[in-house]
Amino acid sequence: MFEIRCASCRRLLLKAADRAIVGPVDIKCPRCGTMNSLRPLVIEPKEPFSDRPDPSGQ
Ligand SMILES: [Zn+2]
Repeated sequence: MFEIRCASCRRLLLKAADRAIVGPVDIKCPRCGTMNSLRPLVIEPKEPFSDRPDPSGQ
């Protein structure tokens, strides 16, 4: 779990599981009104072999 806090006033906005956020999220702080734009904290490294055969296929 990690905490997301307002960038301006540090108010706790939400708690989420490590992989719960998979895309950009905008959260408006209810205290100061700052729009916090979030990106996923865990970014998967690109596979060097993106066209490798799927072991479960065929
Ligand atoms: Zn705030």
